[in-house]
Amino acid sequence: MDKDFCRKVSIRGSNDLTGIKLTEPKRHAAGMSGIQAALQHTFKEMGAVRSMRALLKMNQNDGFECPSCAWPDPDKASKIGEFCENGAKALADEATTEHIGREFFRKHSVEELSLLSDYELNKFGRLIEPLVLRPGSVHYELITWQDAYTLISGELRKLDTPDEAIFYTSGRSSNEAAFLYGMFARAFGTNNMPDCSNMCHESSGVALKETLGIGKGSTKLEDLYKAEVVIIAGQNPGTNHPRMLSALEKCKINGGKIISINPLEESGLVNFKNPQTVKGMLGGGEDLTNIHLQLNINQDIPLIKLLIKKLADLDAETAKVFDHEFINKYVDGYDALMNDIKKYDSQDLLRSTGVDEVRINEAVQLLASKSRIIVCWAMGLTQHKNGVETIREYINLLLLKGAIGKQNAGTCPVRGHSNVQGDRSVGIMHHVDVALNNRIKEYLGFIAPDKEGLDTVGAMKAMYEGKGKAFICLGGNFLMAASDTEYTAKALQRCALTVQISTKLNRSHLVTGKTALILPTFGRSEKDMKKGQLRYVTIENSMGRVRQSRGLLKPASNNLKSEPELIAELADTYFEGNHTVAWKALGEDYELIRQHIDNVIKGFDKTSENSKGSGYYLPNNVRDLDFSGLPNGKAQLTLNRLPDHELRKNEFMLMTIRSHDQFNTTIYGLNDRYRGVYNERRVLFMNEEDMKQQDLIKLDVVDISSFYDDTKRTAYNFLVIPYKIPKGNLAAYFPETNVLVPYNHYAVRSKTPISKSIVVKLTKVI
Ligand code: SF4
Repeated sequence: MDKDFCRKVSIRGSNDLTGIKLTEPKRHAAGMSGIQAALQHTFKEMGAVRSMRALLKMNQNDGFECPSCAWPDPDKASKIGEFCENGAKALADEATTEHIGREFFRKHSVEELSLLSDYELNKFGRLIEPLVLRPGSVHYELITWQDAYTLISGELRKLDTPDEAIFYTSGRSSNEAAFLYGMFARAFGTNNMPDCSNMCHESSGVALKETLGIGKGSTKLEDLYKAEVVIIAGQNPGTNHPRMLSALEKCKINGGKIISINPLEESGLVNFKNPQTVKGMLGGGEDLTNIHLQLNINQDIPLIKLLIKKLADLDAETAKVFDHEFINKYVDGYDALMNDIKKYDSQDLLRSTGVDEVRINEAVQLLASKSRIIVCWAMGLTQHKNGVETIREYINLLLLKGAIGKQNAGTCPVRGHSNVQGDRSVGIMHHVDVALNNRIKEYLGFIAPDKEGLDTVGAMKAMYEGKGKAFICLGGNFLMAASDTEYTAKALQRCALTVQISTKLNRSHLVTGKTALILPTFGRSEKDMKKGQLRYVTIENSMGRVRQSRGLLKPASNNLKSEPELIAELADTYFEGNHTVAWKALGEDYELIRQHIDNVIKGFDKTSENSKGSGYYLPNNVRDLDFSGLPNGKAQLTLNRLPDHELRKNEFMLMTIRSHDQFNTTIYGLNDRYRGVYNERRVLFMNEEDMKQQDLIKLDVVDISSFYDDTKRTAYNFLVIPYKIPKGNLAAYFPETNVLVPYNHYAVRSKTPISKSIVVKLTKVI
């Protein structure tokens, strides 16, 4: 083997422009065009019969959970057609009839494939057999499952310490797979378990835990229906969690009001044409947002402070604006917060937000008289240096209004990947939980490590520095999901071994360690049969409900393994059948895994039984108004600082956003219908006045550069589009602009990357 052999793979793929077409942004979401798009995608990828069979079972009690986002289904049985355009696209993507195996990789080297875009790579179809990329080779070749396990086990045994291995999890896995994977990592001897939560909602988890005692939201789906006010902050449900729009529609019909807080006006929050109603299909749909506070990027803290200040002034007159009874009984820190808020000048706060004061006063009037308030949010709040503090500031508002622990009120962090919350619940985490370790010892019979593991940033750094040598990924596309693409690529390439448990080809299969493996697995919609029995797994949705998921489609190949089975077989090979856990048996019988989950994971209870039908809710102390785990046994109001960045001349604040034709790193198509962009992803949304000042006209091409720690990072070749976005702010698509986000700049305490507030400059390409 040539020791210095280095594959010449492109980490960016193609930067070519693809032929843009523009229209006006849409004023409504879903409706007939949503149905058309959903069916077009599924019929094209899967054929009409297979599509309809699967769509009729998606999100049904006896079917499978949508593989896309974590939005919940109604507690009572779902209506037929309880899915959205994005759910249908996710299904089409995994259940496509296009397949690739050894012949494909014999023909195409990883170097050649890496020149394609992420969209093109995804289009090749499902991976159907286990493959290995050997040291010195640029072609994947077939490997048997047993040889793959033996090879991985051999590499793991070569490590100087178990902490040189890293076990990453994306949020697609089931509870059963994630539990086994987490237990295997611990049995192997490490807590190096970064997950995709580290990159998205970790700030939510930290802020919620500190203030309310649990790192999850407190609302249930039905709470949204009768809320008086729903605040939607830093979230675009029309594209990322589309069925949330039905819940918001119900809220509006019941008399609720919606406040959107977002630098962009998103079509899904303007008007929703519900495809399940006559009004939605034939009429004008339901207007959703009542008040849009179009703030500057990352100015939520000044905005909420201003709202609280104005509400406090009203409360001083009437003592009826804040819920003093609730505060006295359940909340700590009221006096400190009231003293702190006096220090801020209203006009300074207003200037920072960039919002029209008339709109702010409307929001104050609305909030003053209501108490059934829900705050929903996503990465528009979490992915900033002050992500944790930003969320805590929103929680301050809820606590002052007594909008916690009661029906139709509370916190609603809206999770991206369908089981990202469940994976964490069943033990995927880099922190040490002593109580969990004790239960592992009691029920699984081995000693779990008591040393803190690596999160995503720590894992990237360890691999980059040569301290992380074996990187195993349960799903996902780590290279494109993580920040600082070039740094992450080098980190992966320095590994001795990278393993991807995957359904489709992505760039993380091409930018690899010396030896790389692809272990192909079932999609959520596929039948998982063993000894004539149809097996099921369980999933926890964004609101903490655990439910069964059972695939029905014929798997893409006979040479796939389910995730639980392949993890169990790998563990069995590694331990050579000599361990306190009967891994092999667990891989065959998921009932045994669920029994272990019930024993080892607090809150899980008779999961096989209780997860039937519409499933069961995991315990949530906030719903029970139990804050006994917090200082003074009370929910915590917090003092949060204002953001500290100021833009200098020619600098802009860039946020990364998703297009309508993508889900996280998976690119289904090149359109962003709601924003009026077609056939192109290399676009930069920009305020028209800023464009004039920068001497730019529509469709000029620019390079975007960030400058952190004396390092210039550049994303090349972006078409400028005039857009309704506040001056000084820019938006461009993730993951193309991840390259601009320095790996070592992240939210304080949660280490979530600053992907929503990147300071950049533009250079016009002549
Ligand atoms: S809202 Fe989310 S979970 Fe529901 S169908 Fe759409 S993508 Fe799937």
